Amino acid sequence: MPELPDIVVYIEALERRILHHSLERVRLSGPYLLRTASPPIQELEGKRVQGLRRIGKRIAMGFDEDYWLVLHLMIAGRLHWRDRGPAALPLPAKKPAPRSRDVAAFDFDNGSLTLTEAGSRKRASIHVVAGARKFAGLDPGGLEVLESSLEEFAARLTSENHTLKRALTDPHLMSGIGNAYSDEILYAAQLSPAALTSRLTAEEIARLHEATRMTLRDWTGRLREETGGGFPEKVTAFRPAMAVHGRHGQPCPRCGAKVQRIRYADNETNYCARCQTGGKLLADRSLSRLLKQDWPRTLEELEAMRTNEVRRGLTNVH
Ligand SMILES: [Zn+2]
Repeated sequence: MPELPDIVVYIEALERRILHHSLERVRLSGPYLLRTASPPIQELEGKRVQGLRRIGKRIAMGFDEDYWLVLHLMIAGRLHWRDRGPAALPLPAKKPAPRSRDVAAFDFDNGSLTLTEAGSRKRASIHVVAGARKFAGLDPGGLEVLESSLEEFAARLTSENHTLKRALTDPHLMSGIGNAYSDEILYAAQLSPAALTSRLTAEEIARLHEATRMTLRDWTGRLREETGGGFPEKVTAFRPAMAVHGRHGQPCPRCGAKVQRIRYADNETNYCARCQTGGKLLADRSLSRLLKQDWPRTLEELEAMRTNEVRRGLTNVH
């Protein structure tokens, strides 16, 4: 799933292309993508883009009259850009047969932004809202770690008792961090994904805060450099330069031990046992169960948009 570094780079590339440009037409391949009924998405047609923002792992496009389109790519959603040059094809007829993986197209006065989603399980989503209050309601409320002090981070981290893996990736607790960067952050902090937030020492929390900021900043810089002035077409959760994420069985870059993995729900976390868990394998059944219990049944559940009012009602379970 594209996380903060990928989303920041997507937004920068979009700012260079669609800011102050007019959206001429929206095409959707099916009804499942759009999760809001009012205002109709067609009301965006003819409006200009006034700003782009990141909400957690989502991309928000602000239009005239305070209309907002909020896009969640989930795991397999990707964006693509095609300039409308003199050689570009005219807009397709009213109901174009969607190309194999195109699920949406946004035709601007200077080019087309398309959304593709690989695989059969369609999970990407679009919300369209009007007005600042409705827009604010789409924010799950996770902490922006790059803009937060150690005190704010510590308070949020320990507001509920979770495993570190869950606390970092829960969009209601931390903003923009998913499965890939949480693995890298925990590795950089040399902390176990199964450690409980209530048991961390002040020193460990400070280390985690610093590792989170460093990892997100470092990767945003790398991806920005890789993209240059182009459009990010190689967005992936697996990058060769990552230390542990997606590197099960390969040597840890710090100590050379084999990178371990643990599977739970429909997820997987990678870590170095020697560097992060004092050599203990989390495949150990009790620790495995701990991560599993601390994880919602589905990723959709974790990523679901909830207002802060709803959130308060739901978090009393811990
Ligand atoms: Zn190691």
